[in-house]
Amino acid sequence: VKTAFVYSDKLASYSYGANHPLRPIRLKLTYDLIRSLDLLNLPNSSFIEAREANREEIALFHSPEYIDVIEEANSGELSYFRGLPYGLGPGDNPVFPGVYDWSILVTGATLQATRLVEQREVNTAFNISGGLHHAAKSNASGFCYFNDIVVAIHDLLRKGKRVAYIDVDVHHGDGVQEAFYDTDQVLTISLHESGHFLFPGTGSEHEIGEGKGAGYAVNIPFYPGADDDAVVYGFLEIVPPLIEAFQPDILVTQLGVDSFRMDPLAHGNLTTYGFCCLVTEIRSFALPWIALGGGGYQIGNVARAWTLAWAIMNHRDRDLPDELPLIYRSEASKLGLSETRLRDPVFKLEGQERDKIMKDLEKSLGYIKREVFPIVGAR
Ligand code: ZN
Repeated sequence: VKTAFVYSDKLASYSYGANHPLRPIRLKLTYDLIRSLDLLNLPNSSFIEAREANREEIALFHSPEYIDVIEEANSGELSYFRGLPYGLGPGDNPVFPGVYDWSILVTGATLQATRLVEQREVNTAFNISGGLHHAAKSNASGFCYFNDIVVAIHDLLRKGKRVAYIDVDVHHGDGVQEAFYDTDQVLTISLHESGHFLFPGTGSEHEIGEGKGAGYAVNIPFYPGADDDAVVYGFLEIVPPLIEAFQPDILVTQLGVDSFRMDPLAHGNLTTYGFCCLVTEIRSFALPWIALGGGGYQIGNVARAWTLAWAIMNHRDRDLPDELPLIYRSEASKLGLSETRLRDPVFKLEGQERDKIMKDLEKSLGYIKREVFPIVGAR
């Protein structure tokens, strides 16, 4: 197995603002933990310094006028009315100094991962800064300015690849679904908390694509509170049969961890156990794999989960200690974190709460198996 980790310390130097939930420092924290566990000097693994995407690459998806406005915003100042039509301004998508530089660096890193995998230099490449799945062609959304995922998939499509996209972020992968809603060359699968309860409000199981793309957009919504058992069960029932039937050339995954217990923006109950099951299952597909980050607003969860994911990609997860390394704990304590263990305690829902989640899930799974499986040829 050959792997690549694409990263730059520059990524952690940007700030969305003091009170914004997305904290790029989480990327450095993750990198620190990976390094302190000695997971960057593996014999079959390489470290790739992230580079910025150029304008032509961003334009594989985004409109010229939108790219212009993000570039203008790079100074950190943009008039309210100039930003408004593009989703920019106080709130989710603030104008901050370096917003363009940040966005092209994230997208560039995803494109590097994409090319390494596409050209078979590595089997798996991980860009923890990528996975900004909400951005649309001409507007920012949900903390995302440029949609690195859609840009990368367009890059793969123009090389004639069939792509499967799996998104386990707690929010619906709406930007990616929308971009490929009418094509059968990209299969998008999103697992997320139901849009009835959470941003962006979309992602019902009834959204299955349109035209040639009918059957190639798949949504597995969960009632709030989904735990390891529910999420892993929903994944196993739907994702492996679809991947096997679709036979993609390349897999792109968004590994957002805002589905975890204690994440401040959603209501999930996933732990490192469930998350590791998902990542291990994805690894077992044995496909060329572009792995990206995503949401995650409890930054200790982010560092631990993505470190475990990277270890799984490298078949090193069994060798890891239970205790977090002291050198990492001292860095983490400066950010107000006091966790001592790499893995979460086991957590399982019981009783009525569990029954409600499972009953709701079965309804969605039944719909997908009835309506989508026959189109894609899954059984
Ligand atoms: Zn999210």
